[in-house]
Amino acid sequence: MNIDSINNGIVIDHIQAGKAMEIYNYLGLEDLDCSVAIIKNVRSKKSGKKDIIKIDNDIDVDMDVLGYIDTNITANIIKDGIIIEKKHMELPERIVNIIKCNNPRCITSVERELDQVFNLTDKENKVYRCKYCEMQAKK
Ligand code: ZN
Repeated sequence: MNIDSINNGIVIDHIQAGKAMEIYNYLGLEDLDCSVAIIKNVRSKKSGKKDIIKIDNDIDVDMDVLGYIDTNITANIIKDGIIIEKKHMELPERIVNIIKCNNPRCITSVERELDQVFNLTDKENKVYRCKYCEMQAKK
């Protein structure tokens, strides 16, 4: 894999330096068969240093995960070697099965088949609360 250019895939850019592995795990990229390149501590004019993830396959990446982690992230969709779309992240209103509720008395701790649903309750402070027990999510 030429890490400078991919033909069909997705480049996740402007990741805060040091966060690439977290995103790799959240997105479950270890389960992919295609090439995935993690480039750490790339020099960036805007933010000093950044991480980049390149995925050499046009998979569906969960933009809610990226938006939840950091709204500064951008995702470039690449087709035939050309960026056909540049996606900017937004803080998702609701996240499903991305984080788990930490409340041992929450119904999701007992009923494990339930989806882990968190709603954005305070956009300014990025506060998410469990749909079932209102427990605040910890990052
Ligand atoms: Zn809960």
